[in-house]
Amino acid sequence: MPTSQPVLRYKQPEKRYDVIVIGAGLHGLAAAYNLARYHRVGRIAVLERRYIGFGGSGRNTEMIRANKRAHETLPFYKESLEMWDGLSAELEWNLMVQKKGLIALAHSDGELAVMRMLSDSQRRAGIKIDMLGPEEVKKMVPSLDVSDKPALPVAGAQFHPEGGTVHHDAALWGYAKAASRCGVDICAGVEVTGFYVEGGKVNGVRTNVGNIAAGKVHVAVGGYSSEIARMLGVKYPVVTIPMQVMTTEVMAPFLDYYVASPRLHWYTQQTLKGDLILGGQLDPWQSWNSSTTWQECSERVAFILEYFPDLAHARVVRSWSGLCDCTGDSAPVMGPSGIDGLSLDIAWGYYGFKSTPACGKYAAEYIATGKVPEKIRHFGLDRFYNRQRVREIII
Ligand SMILES: Cc1cc2nc3c(=O)[nH]c(=O)nc-3n(C[C@H](O)[C@H](O)[C@H](O)COP(=O)(O)OP(=O)(O)OC[C@H]3O[C@@H](n4cnc5c(N)ncnc54)[C@H](O)[C@@H]3O)c2cc1C
Repeated sequence: MPTSQPVLRYKQPEKRYDVIVIGAGLHGLAAAYNLARYHRVGRIAVLERRYIGFGGSGRNTEMIRANKRAHETLPFYKESLEMWDGLSAELEWNLMVQKKGLIALAHSDGELAVMRMLSDSQRRAGIKIDMLGPEEVKKMVPSLDVSDKPALPVAGAQFHPEGGTVHHDAALWGYAKAASRCGVDICAGVEVTGFYVEGGKVNGVRTNVGNIAAGKVHVAVGGYSSEIARMLGVKYPVVTIPMQVMTTEVMAPFLDYYVASPRLHWYTQQTLKGDLILGGQLDPWQSWNSSTTWQECSERVAFILEYFPDLAHARVVRSWSGLCDCTGDSAPVMGPSGIDGLSLDIAWGYYGFKSTPACGKYAAEYIATGKVPEKIRHFGLDRFYNRQRVREIII
């Protein structure tokens, strides 16, 4: 007789935990899961003021890749990309990992030169990268216009064969279910409104449902880190900027790869279902408002139609927006907060989805041991105050 079990049950929070994680996005859930599964830290709760996946984790464009620039970040992104391969089995949930390959277009010799330089750094870090000419790109993406008709014709491309996509809702529910199975309390509708800090050490949090004591508190709140800073009476070097994306109606499969133009700020992929996800540009203003605008939609569509003219008939059926919390060096903040027992995993901009598996692993290791793992050594908050910024670039 088949039985029907809910994926997980939300819990009411208890009065005391050993570790509290704030935020049930992917980073919070992954940290809680790794803590419960691989470390002995006692009772763990994830407190979420809305619902699982309310933030960027449920709104992103699902791109995973490791073709970044800085020697401080490349090993981290490489490991995270590799970790996705084993996660479906580990979490006992199909995350629909598709390493379909990522093609980043260049539109001039100058851009190609920059891509070659980036490719060298990436290859040195052990990441697979190829450079392609326009004709090779055309063979892989027959619907792409590589002629001289677009205002900025395709001059070549970088190909990252192991880049691809993971279904973000599947990842959320996979981590949530696995964390819950390992004994983590996932508490939705619980908003952290303040902290108890005594003698430089965190003792717990204030919430809309009462005070909760905890020896360790981990902050994984995505675009809302400035609110946390305000509660603590500090300022983080982070700004919050919305990003909009949209999706078309479903079409017969025609696009096998993730295709992007970093110069013109657009990227697109066709999902398993057949709709196209279109995105590419942060809004030109700071805000916590996640509404969409006609301007962004029409600009993105205009750029993409330059290269995929056959899509002129396709209808955009939905658009949405989410928050990206960004630092000045385009690298995240992970590790100590300056308050004993309070750790940070914030400022992941538009590159936090791909980073989830490694973030979960290293956040948990830091929380459990109090020692900053080598792979996140360069992501500390202190780098902004002692001239050790990461040399990442916005790609
Ligand atoms: C449109 C868009 C497209 C993107 N595309 C990609 C992509 O293709 N690839 C990629 O790698 N990354 C992408 N990103 C970035 C990625 O989505 C984020 O970096 C990542 O999801 C961050 O995850 P998180 O768990 O840290 O935060 P979130 O998913 O934002 O979760 C934070 C959670 O904390 C909760 N919270 C906040 N404050 C409190 C409080 N006081 N009390 C309790 N709960 C609180 C929120 O409700 C939220 O659920 C994109 C982002 C956006 C917006």
